Order: sequence, then C-alpha cells, then structure tokens
Amino acid sequence: MTVSRRPLIAGNWKMNGCGESGMDLARQLAERMKGRDHHPFDMLVCPPFTMLSRVGEAVAGSGILLGAQDCHHQPAGAYTGNVSAAMLADVGCAYVIVGHSERRAQHGETDAVVKAKAEAAHIAGLIAIVCIGETEAERNAGNTLKVIKDQLAGSLPSSMRAVNTVIAYEPVWAIGTGRTPTNDEVEQVHACIRDRLTDDFGEAEAQATRLLYGGSMNAENAGELRALPDVDGGLVGGAGLKAETFWAICEA
Ligand code: PEP
Repeated sequence: MTVSRRPLIAGNWKMNGCGESGMDLARQLAERMKGRDHHPFDMLVCPPFTMLSRVGEAVAGSGILLGAQDCHHQPAGAYTGNVSAAMLADVGCAYVIVGHSERRAQHGETDAVVKAKAEAAHIAGLIAIVCIGETEAERNAGNTLKVIKDQLAGSLPSSMRAVNTVIAYEPVWAIGTGRTPTNDEVEQVHACIRDRLTDDFGEAEAQATRLLYGGSMNAENAGELRALPDVDGGLVGGAGLKAETFWAICEA
C-alpha cells in the first residue's frame, strides 16, 4: 500500500524563547511562510506555555501550526502548576508533544503516563506527538528495537489514529549532542515502528501515520534523513531556535 504522508517539521523550543527573542523567531518564520504560495510541508512551532498565545497571534495566517511541549493527563482540577490538553486547545494549539525523553528522564514519566497524556490530547482534539527512543546504554546493549517496541506498546492509547497521532523517534543519546544514528539505523527503527503500528492498529492507520526523526537534526543532515522511506519529517530542538536554520531544515 502506498500512501503519501505530508511532511511535518516541528520545532521544540524547550525552555527557550523569552519575550522578544521568541517573538522575533515566530515573526521571522511567519514572514518566510507567507512569502511562499505553496508549502509542501507542515511547519509546527512548540514554544513554552507562556508564549503560546503571543506566538499564536504572530503566526496567524501564515500556515504555521502551534503546539505545546507537554500536557497533564487530567482535563482540570487540583494539579498545581500543570496545564491540561483542553487549555492548550483553548489557546489555539493543534499539537502537543508527549513523552519527550527530557520529561521521561527529568520528571519520571512512564509509558503509562505518556499514554494517559496522549489520550487526554485526543479527547481535547489535539494531535499528540508521542516521543520514543533508546538511551545510549540500551543501544550499546543491542536493545534498541526491543525498547522501541516496548515504548510503543506502553505509550499509545487505543484512541491512536493516523489523524490524531504522530510518532517521533528520538534516540536519547542523539538529542543535543551533534551525534546521529546512521541513515540505515534510522530507517530500520522507523520501519520497525511502522510494522508495530500495522500489527496493533491495522495497515491503513500504520501507512498514514507520520513518523518523525529527532536528535541533532540540522540543515546538513535533514535532506538525507527526510529522504528515507519511513521518515516523514523531523522534531528539531537546538536548530529550531534560529529562523535561518529551521527554515533550511524545512527546505531540505
Ligand atoms: C529534541 O529535544 O526534541 C531534539 C530533537 O533536540 P536537538 O535537535 O537539539 O537534538
């Protein structure tokens, strides 16, 4: 079955982008998008919670999509400091990242928590970008594919569909390090993800689901990564903080 999947390039700003620095980035990207009649890709920016409204206003009408970096799994209640998926939808988000390795490592988020967050995103009408990826120790032990399969099985809710879920393969050891797997290794993992989706959700959903690569993606390696048959775009951290480099990745 051959299905065309629209490429998605997502910028995860992490805890960066205070005041004018974030707004400048948003405005510059919006200018570039408005300067083109046709975009053969979706561009998504995921600023910190505090900037969502303002960035949303800055990119309005440009075609740039707005997303958040996390959500709570409950819709509302006594969860001090947290933000629900419904609140994100309320400020104009279309996407939310869940299960980023920094959340898993720094906040102890398990697959079960990630699954609950993805389900909450679906209920709120958001597209969940579910992140998975092996650590360096798991890779060195030869366990990459096992880890990926386990994380997929544990992190995807039954509400998962191609229209409401994107999967981002982000090897933990490649994030922010300048190191990346070989293209063959990336394709092997992405093909494995698609096989698992086929087993669990059927071929039509599996073929239509977008799979992103993330981890030290930059203007130099984006083209060849994107050309891999099962890579449908990228989740970009550091290189997404400058309009020139993020745009160059999108163009690649
Ligand atoms: C990320 O944290 O999602 C990421 C891909 O970061 P970087 O591009 O900086 O490796």
